Amino acid sequence: MPMTSKNMAADDDALNIIIDKANVCFNQANTFFGHEFIPATCNLKQRGKAAGTAHLQKNELRFNHFMYQQNPEEFVSTVVPHEVAHIIVYQIYGDTVRPHGKEWQAVMQKVYGIRPSRTHSFDVPPQKQSYEYHCSCQKHHFSKRRHTRARQGVEYVCRGCRSTLQFVDLNK
Ligand SMILES: [Zn+2]
Ligand SMILES: [Zn+2]
Repeated sequence: MPMTSKNMAADDDALNIIIDKANVCFNQANTFFGHEFIPATCNLKQRGKAAGTAHLQKNELRFNHFMYQQNPEEFVSTVVPHEVAHIIVYQIYGDTVRPHGKEWQAVMQKVYGIRPSRTHSFDVPPQKQSYEYHCSCQKHHFSKRRHTRARQGVEYVCRGCRSTLQFVDLNK
């Protein structure tokens, strides 16, 4: 889908709001620890079931725009500090501690005053429709396009067992 200028403006807003909040979170940590943490770069590349991820070695935070849109306020006040806290913990302890261990929980509580939670309550983006096929050895998932070709007579063979894949109609 081509991006309209309207979409791009909305994305820019979301990213700027997230970056602003991340900066606030880094400053709070600087004040709390009396130490200058290196701010992470932020982007909206996160897809799938995670609201955000912290890429510690890259010092990069990826946020899920699909989930941001559902409730920007909630997203900014919970997901951003959650991910920044991962970076803070990494810059203090390296990778010697557990991701959601007591060090991370302490940053959430003492620096941000937030109840530490590993999970989020945002809806997950819809999965792409897939069509189930089977051979003699396993299940296979076809995209709609591949399924259409198979329906038109194209034969697909399993690389494992060399048998022809058969469509499993789950609606039957
Ligand atoms: Zn986490
Ligand atoms: Zn097979």
